[in-house]
Parts: sequence; structure tokens; C-alpha cells
Amino acid sequence: MDRQPLSPVPSNRLRVRVEGVVQGVGFRPFVHGLATAGGLSGLVGNDTAGVFIEIEGTPGELDRFLAALEGEAPPLAVIDRVETEVISATGGVGFAIVESEPAGERQTLISPDTATCDDCLAELLDPGDRRFRHPFINCTNCGPRFTIIRDVPYDRPLTTMSGFAMCAECRREYEDPGDRRFHAQPVCCPDCGPSLRLIDRDGAPIAGDPVSTAVQLLAAGGVLAVKGVGGYHLAALADREPAVTALRSRKHREDKPFAVMVADLDGARALGTIGAAEARALTSPRRPIVLLRRAAGAPVAAAVAPGNRSLGVMLPYSPLHHLLARDLRAPFVLTSGNVSDEPIAYRDEEALPRLRGIADAFLTHDRPIHIRTDDSVIRVVGGRETPLRRSRGFVPQPVTVVRAFPRPVLGCGAELKSTFCVGKGRRAFVSHHIGDLENYETLQSYVEGIEHFMRVFDIHPEVVAHDLHPEYLSTKLALDLDGVERVGVQHHHAHIASCMAENGLAGEVIGVAFDGTGYGTDGAIWGGEFLVAGYGGFHRRAHLRYIPLAGGDAAVRQPWRPALAYLMDTFGAGAPFEAAPPEHIRVVRRMIAAGVNSTSTSSCGRLFDAVASLAGLRQEVNFEGQAAIELEMIAEVGCAEVYPYGFDGEGPWELGFRPAIESIVRDVSSGVARGRVAAKFHNALAAATVEVCGRIAGETALRRVCLSGGTFQNMRLLGSIVAGLRARGLEVFLHARVPPNDGGIALGQAAIAARLQP
Ligand code: ZN
Ligand code: ZN
Ligand code: FE
Repeated sequence: MDRQPLSPVPSNRLRVRVEGVVQGVGFRPFVHGLATAGGLSGLVGNDTAGVFIEIEGTPGELDRFLAALEGEAPPLAVIDRVETEVISATGGVGFAIVESEPAGERQTLISPDTATCDDCLAELLDPGDRRFRHPFINCTNCGPRFTIIRDVPYDRPLTTMSGFAMCAECRREYEDPGDRRFHAQPVCCPDCGPSLRLIDRDGAPIAGDPVSTAVQLLAAGGVLAVKGVGGYHLAALADREPAVTALRSRKHREDKPFAVMVADLDGARALGTIGAAEARALTSPRRPIVLLRRAAGAPVAAAVAPGNRSLGVMLPYSPLHHLLARDLRAPFVLTSGNVSDEPIAYRDEEALPRLRGIADAFLTHDRPIHIRTDDSVIRVVGGRETPLRRSRGFVPQPVTVVRAFPRPVLGCGAELKSTFCVGKGRRAFVSHHIGDLENYETLQSYVEGIEHFMRVFDIHPEVVAHDLHPEYLSTKLALDLDGVERVGVQHHHAHIASCMAENGLAGEVIGVAFDGTGYGTDGAIWGGEFLVAGYGGFHRRAHLRYIPLAGGDAAVRQPWRPALAYLMDTFGAGAPFEAAPPEHIRVVRRMIAAGVNSTSTSSCGRLFDAVASLAGLRQEVNFEGQAAIELEMIAEVGCAEVYPYGFDGEGPWELGFRPAIESIVRDVSSGVARGRVAAKFHNALAAATVEVCGRIAGETALRRVCLSGGTFQNMRLLGSIVAGLRARGLEVFLHARVPPNDGGIALGQAAIAARLQP
């Protein structure tokens, strides 16, 4: 065969900058492997902005290298940006990993906590491996990150692993660029890592292997506290009614559903319906709780999720969970380790006293948790994941916004399901779920969380956004800050801006914000709002008709109160009503008639509550939104009948449900099934919503509609509204990065306060 003499192709040298989640995820060894496999010379290193590379080769080789750099990056890497610049070739040979450069402005991202990878799982289960059944096995592709990092750069001394000195064998792996554990900061083994302990309620050690003994205890119907990645959980076998009921009563948690962990996807299929998107979510490295439609005959006790057609299911995400799930061979409840609404316990010294009244024993260990982080909860909506609680596995991955924040910003969030958000450049870091800001402990972790995010992301807010509600602790905190500009942001404006921001929208949109409670600019409690909104401001174009909300918080706990208000609004002050004790009804009737201790509200949540009460479904709730969830759950599938509704007022229009209330009362008294009533109500609210959006679109020529607020966790309502809007040729935007509930508010506040785009 003839050989053409090859004319030498000139070498080029590129300087490459890679930004994103590229540290602590095995990126440098990946680059090293890529370069050496391609026979390219150069170097790679970390700095405060990400990874820098110098790479030398022919143009074709460099193109292939750059393509692979993005296309084959390690599983945990998230590449935001790659910049290249041609520099002069050196003709050097070999490829080196060079020392980190610590100076410079911090722009590095921190990886979220990540589920045990397949390689580590195989080792965990391999009797021949030196980490066989080691509950802390991890590598650069998996393991704890966000919850153990005290400060950046991400280096072992700045993590909660600082107290564990690596043994010689672990150090060899840690220092070998060819090893899966190269620079995996939490790397350890049974000889040098943290250790498990099983202790009783008094802190006394229980003899035997901790995992096997804990499994025996669960199998015998006990309740176990387990130290996880972001805090303590409480566990009980899911099919044991007495164990689950005991857990429920000791936790003082009456009806809120418990999540269930099961060993693998096959086990999950026995619990609920799993499509491709659900399977992807369940097995993703984020490992959230995924809400599934409960399978008929799912092997779980009734007390796991009373009155709920869905079931929250998750797969093991830490090595310890894998061991428990495999040894137990049965689904087990894994719920946050707390009493009632307190935050989840995460420090060893507080866990025992707080949980000893609930757990029979504690499976714990000595690797500290730096940041308390709950399990995330998602639901698949139209093939896409919607976060309902965004926490472990997601945080602190930033949301990239449409344009750089002109100034560093802090959004303080609202009150319930609270989160905060710090933003700089084009990145918005929405915090982990912190909880309801109503007790000292939650407030404390909120304040500490803000300080932590400011430090690790080097963001020093010049503008601080807060809710308009004067009594929210988040508002009070914002008003206490000195030396910053403070911006009050209307609650539902923030909801819509949040949906816009995560969808990368600018300009103006039609925003539908449906939720339970949000302080309005007129002092009323809003919650059924149709806005024309942009980051620079909003106009309220329509809202649900105001009704008086009698008795403050009691009106949220007792759906019969808004029901009575709707009845009096529809039929007059003397409307007959018997859903509560007569003396209570008398008092509330007087309050409503006289306008005493009653605030006007356009809350969509209260409308749901009222209908649930009128349908005889529920007169008291144990958590916000319970009646609405149950109304959704019973709504007859396939029923297309619609209650009438009406419009009042000039601008903003009032969307009224008097005709609907009349029909509901008639239906209920003539014995129409509750499921039918619920369906007709859902259909009416959806039809009315679509009609209002259509009118606004007609007047403004806006075509984009953003849907936000806690009510849009209602799948039936959401599905009908989306279909109706699309049928009218409108473009619909939903949440997929942050929750539609108040957990997403902080992002919208930040976008508005920073005047992301006027
Ligand atoms: Zn791994
Ligand atoms: Zn070791
Ligand atoms: Fe809200």
C-alpha cells in the first residue's frame, strides 16, 4: 500500500476556561484522561472561578477534545460556560494536573448532595471489596457535598470530614488522578472513616452489628431514628399499621402523608404508577421523593397517607439507606425527624432529646451535618418534573436568570415553606427548604442559612426584597438590615416573577397566581389574582370576588368559616348553615355581618375550603391545603359538567362564584355525589380562569401566561387550565426549577428588586 507522506499539521495551543459545577465532581481527572487518550499535551487546574485548561494539538484534535469536554463530562458536572482563547504553542509534552489557585473572586459552584453511584453501590455489596458494607462509601461521582461543606474552596479541611485523617490506602486513591476517588473530599473506608452506632433512647449503646440490629428492631414493629445526609429521619415498616400509627401519634402529625423508601425501581412499581419520567426522577442522582399515583393493593398501611390517592416514594440515596432497604426487603416509612412542625433534627446532641419520645432506638454516626436539608419532593407534570419542595439533591444549584443582576440581591421569601434567594451575575441561588417561619428554631436556621450562602457564594446583597406582610418574620428580618436598599414586593407579583425568571422570560406576561394567602396592596388578603406583570411592576386585572375571612388563623383551620362567608354573600345574612356547632356559627355570623375581626380575601385556597365544607367533606383541617387536596382527590374523573360563574366590576374585574355556590347547595341537598360536586367545581374554576386570561389577552395582545402559586399543585385544575389556555392559542409557562408554592417566592422577589429588566 502506498503511503502519502503526511505534511505535519501545525499544533495550536488553547487556553480553556470552564465554569459551572466543575469542582469536587472529578473534572480534572476527566480532562486529564481525555487529553492523554488523545495524545494531547498541556495542563489543568482549579481556581476560584472554575477549571482552567491549556491544551495543545492539531485543530482537529482540539475540536474533538472540546466536543468531548462538554459531551462526556462527569455525571455530577454542570457546565455553564466554556471559553477558549488561542495562545502560543509551547511544543511541550505530557499533560499535568497543576495546583489550585486560591486567589480571586469566588464564583465556584457547590455540588448538591448526590446519591450513591453504581460503582460505589457495586463495591458496597461486594464481599471482596475493602469497603464492603461500609455505610460511608463515596467517590468523586457521588456522596455528600452541600450538607458537609462549611466553606469554600471545597477541600477536606473545610468539610465536616476534617476530623477524619485518611489512611494510607485512602490517601493513595485520593492522590491518584487515574482513580475514581481522586480528590473526592469525603473519601474514607472502615479503617479511617466515620462509624455507625445503634443507641437506645437514653444514649446507651445497643450490642451487635448496628445495621442488622436496627433491621431486626424495624422488623419487630419498632420506630427507628436514622441519621441521614441532611438530618435525622424516623423509620417504620410501611405495612405495619400499629408501627405507622404509633409513629404518627408520637410525632403529633395527624394526616400529612409519610414518604416511603423502597430498595429499587421494581419495589417502587408495586407502590405506584411509574412512567418514564417518574422512573427517571426516582433513579436520578438527586433522588427526590416522587409523588406517584398509588397502586391498587400497594403494601402500605392506611396510616401512611390517609385520604390520598398519591404516595411519596423514594429510592435509597446513601449507602446506609441501601443497606437498610436491602436487609429489610420491604418498603419503610422514612419521614423527617421532628415533632409536629419543628425543623428536622440534624445535630447529634439535639436529636436524642427531641426524638427520644418517638424513636425506640437511634442509628447514628459521627460525621457531622453542617446544613440541615430535608428530602426534596417532586411530581411529574406533563412529562416534566415540578419541585414541590426543593432541597437535598437540588440545592445549591443556581437558576440562571435572563440577564445579570445589576446588583447583588437577597430575596427573603415569605412565611410558609420558606426559602431565601441570593443572586449575583446571572446566578440566583435559591436556598433549601427551611420550613414555616413561625418558631425560633426555624428562624435561626433561616438566618444561619442566609449567612452561609452569602459566605460560600461571596454575595453581599446591596438590595433586599421582602414580602409586604408586616407580620412575616422574613419581612421583619429584612427591615432590620442596615446599609442596604429594601424593596417590598407584593406576594403574587413575586410568584409570577419567579415563574418568569426560571423560564427566562422578559417583558410582560399574563400572570395567574392562585394560593392561600398573600398580602395585597390594598391591605386585603389576596390569593386569586390575574396580573399583567413584568419585573418592573404589575397591574391587577382581575381577582376572585372578596369575601370576609372571619377570625384570622381560625378561618384557615376551619373551612366552614369561609363556607359561611360564601353562603352569606350568596343568600344573605340569614343563610341557613349547620356545618359547625350553632354557638360558633352564631359568633362567626355576627363577625362577618359586622365586619369585626374579618379581613376581605380573594384567596383561591379559601374558595376550595368553602366548597369542601359545603360538600360535607371536611370542616376542620390539620394542615394548610388539606381540604383542597381532598377535594381534588375525590373529584370524579371524566365529568365535564361545569358550575356557572360570573363577572362583576369594572377594572379589576371580580370573578364571582355566587351562581356556583347556589348550584352546589342545590346539588348537595338533592344528594348529588360529592365527587361530582368536586369535579363540577374544578371545571368551573378552570373555565373561568381560561376565560379571564382570554379577555386579558384580547385587551393587551399578550400571549404568554405564567401560572404560579400553591393552588397549582392541584393537578386536575392545572391540567384543565393549561389545556384551555393552549386551545385559545396562548403560550403557558409553569414551574420546573422552583416550587409553584411559596418556596419559589424568593426567586421572584430577587428578580423584581434587582430590576432584572425594567
Ligand atoms: Zn461513587
Ligand atoms: Zn481509609
Ligand atoms: Fe403564595
